Amino acid sequence: PAPRRNLAGRVRGQWGPARESRLRELGEVAASLDMRAYLVGGSVRDLLLNAQTQDVDIVVEGEAPVLARQLQARNPELQVSVHPSFGTATLSFPGGERLDLASSRVEHYPSPAALPRVESSGIQADLWRRDFTINAMAMHIHPERFGELLDPYHGATDLKERRIRVLHSLSFIEDPTRILRALRFELRLGFLMDAMSERLVRNAVHLDVFSQLSGARLWRELSYLLDLPHALALSDRLSELHLWPVLRGEPLADPARFRARVARAVDSLRWYRLLFRAAPEVAGWRLWIRVFWGDLDDARLRQRLREFQLPARELSAALSDVEKLRQARSRLLKPLDPWTRYQLLSPLSMEGLLALLSWDECEILQAQVSEFIQHQYDLRLPLSGKDLQALGIPRGPRIGELLAQLRRAVVEGHVTDRETAKQWIRQSLQASESHARSQPPG
Ligand code: ATP
Repeated sequence: PAPRRNLAGRVRGQWGPARESRLRELGEVAASLDMRAYLVGGSVRDLLLNAQTQDVDIVVEGEAPVLARQLQARNPELQVSVHPSFGTATLSFPGGERLDLASSRVEHYPSPAALPRVESSGIQADLWRRDFTINAMAMHIHPERFGELLDPYHGATDLKERRIRVLHSLSFIEDPTRILRALRFELRLGFLMDAMSERLVRNAVHLDVFSQLSGARLWRELSYLLDLPHALALSDRLSELHLWPVLRGEPLADPARFRARVARAVDSLRWYRLLFRAAPEVAGWRLWIRVFWGDLDDARLRQRLREFQLPARELSAALSDVEKLRQARSRLLKPLDPWTRYQLLSPLSMEGLLALLSWDECEILQAQVSEFIQHQYDLRLPLSGKDLQALGIPRGPRIGELLAQLRRAVVEGHVTDRETAKQWIRQSLQASESHARSQPPG
């Protein structure tokens, strides 16, 4: 038989001796309890890819909570939280590192609507439940076999050939979120689904599998996708696989126009991030909500975003942005005076402005929006309420009125700094005094 591949050298080289010795200790304590422990899932994939790993997942043949308690007895500084009913435990080490432990198990669904019955089983069955071959590899951490790769579904070959492949033909029917996970790994790793997996996606979409899925779960997977820096490729993949009707509740009205809009939004986001390195970060997913769903009619948009169960603040910000964007858009196709433009654009969030900037292929609109983003979005008045008091204006509503007028004067270019602002205030005070004097008393 072919020699088994061993990853111990990679564990030490990529992760360092501290994590290696933690894993070895875990394997030894497991062995002393007559259990076997394995590194699984994304961390094995990342070891083979020489990529960063965030979470390290361990699967134990046996009770993970019992193993966790035993480890804690040996290392009092180790923090352990266990969830006996799930058979899981989390170990937190003093340096901040975490290891997640799970008991290997298979889920039986006694009937389609019933909760799964969890039974323990071996590592092979655990791997069989996973989404793709590249995520269905394990590494022994048992002392005698530490580092040995366990790869029953040839994930290492698929990694080498840059392929996302499901383990069996019912995979997407069992769990439709895997369709979005497949896209996530395609985009993140620069891989592609193999022909069979892609056919299974089309088939599952045809069978309307997403109707079984709650909006909240759909959104959870989707939000990971929208956070990746590959929005145009994502949009193209969603078109190719006929997923837009699932995500939007209706197909794209004009695919070519939609694609051009997405391409412009990618450029706008890049432009913004280059130009305003120090500005508050804009969240990609917020922009993509506005661009991908912003052309739906009101009722459908509201319904879709509600189904996603976004946090209330995000929902109302997105709805408000889309409404404001539509109002502003038709008017900005022609040049507007600065104050009208300011009033139209200042209620929008930065993500809303970037969506608007990309909405149409219209230079007049783009010039006006980018001018606003660069010079007026973050407009600071040269004088504060305190400054106005120092100029002799008593506290009260008058201060607020003057500040609002000052804002307009700044937007219109009459006021450029503290000095011109003070002059401007004095003039407007004089004007209102002489106005008052000219009125008959009483
Ligand atoms: P990342 O680097 O994004 O964390 P990951 O592979 O660790 O990638 P997770 O979402 O943390 O991704 O999942 C951990 C592991 O759990 C996966 O590697 C996979 O084996 C398994 N898994 C996650 N979601 C599913 C799913 N929907 N169906 C089957 N297996 C899944």
